[in-house]
Amino acid sequence: MGNHRDAQETNISVVVRVRPRNQKEIRENSPIIVTTNGPRGKELHVKSTLADSTTKTYSFDKAFGPEADQEMIFMDVLAPMLKEVESHQRASSTQTGTGKTYTMEGDLNTAKGPQAGMIPRTLYSLFNQLESQDIGEYSVRVSFTELYNEELKDLLSSDEDLRKLRIFDDYQRKGSIVIQNLEETLVKSAADVIAVLQRGSVKRQSAATKMNEVSSRSHSIFCITVHIKETTPEGEELLKVGKLNLVDLAGSENIGRSGALDRRAKEAGMINQSLLTLGRVINALVDRSPHVPYRESKLTRILQDSLGGSTKTCIIAAVSPAKCNIEETLSTLDYAHRAK
Ligand code: ADP
Ligand code: MG
Repeated sequence: MGNHRDAQETNISVVVRVRPRNQKEIRENSPIIVTTNGPRGKELHVKSTLADSTTKTYSFDKAFGPEADQEMIFMDVLAPMLKEVESHQRASSTQTGTGKTYTMEGDLNTAKGPQAGMIPRTLYSLFNQLESQDIGEYSVRVSFTELYNEELKDLLSSDEDLRKLRIFDDYQRKGSIVIQNLEETLVKSAADVIAVLQRGSVKRQSAATKMNEVSSRSHSIFCITVHIKETTPEGEELLKVGKLNLVDLAGSENIGRSGALDRRAKEAGMINQSLLTLGRVINALVDRSPHVPYRESKLTRILQDSLGGSTKTCIIAAVSPAKCNIEETLSTLDYAHRAK
């Protein structure tokens, strides 16, 4: 029998993006072992690094090759989800692995250029939709948080320090959470958001230099909330809320390779706690299990109301094509595949 875990049925889709080889991989002559069927097929082939030269094939909802550019990924993955936001469903997109910041943010200095990532593209498209239609009153708010070692920080906070945030259950809406002290910034245009993002990125980078490349080992969550006030023909006012989470997931690190120190082992454990719980939550949702272990990590608590219910969730896993990264690639693919 075929796979019952149908994306349509479950509202969860998993997409993989293979980036081109980088300078280092080319310099080291590391062969390309991860390939796709053209820029937008569904299958990913991984050539074995053993002498048997077998090939393992993974199939995903979409598998983008190195030829796929930002526009293609946006049109195929995010644009359909934006329609959902407009029809007031919740949507969320998560990703993991190499090239995630490139995919999510891209070049923030030319946020309208070909290198622009999914976040600026989503916002330009969202504001275009909101402005071009007679939608009534609306507001758009964004927040940007970083999750590192199971500690949550506000990247848009006007405070100099990145404050630790606390998560509480929302007693007014069952299954939802409130993040205490989180700044939700009201934005009037996509350009506003780019400025906000640049602020968050600078903050993340300065924290990263202080804490030794923290950013690549932390998850970040960019959340867009749209409130729309509509008046029914009967004169009744309706407040509709749409939410889109764009998540930049840290990959689970291969700590063996770099010689794990205690701190790094702890970090890897923390990353894995969130990643493993996310995987188990998605499995439970897909299997329609009565118990979904949202509470077992901060990441899944935050994403709880966008993972369950009628929400569309999309995971974009970013991987390297090169042999020298095979271990990370396989662990990312196995993780992403489990989510399918
Ligand atoms: P991560 O956030 O996963 O650590 P980055 O997004 O910072 O990785 O990517 C690492 C480098 O590779 C960056 O210089 C980025 O510009 C480049 N890169 C990543 N993906 C692609 C791609 N699909 N096409 C071209 N360059 C890419
Ligand atoms: Mg990054």
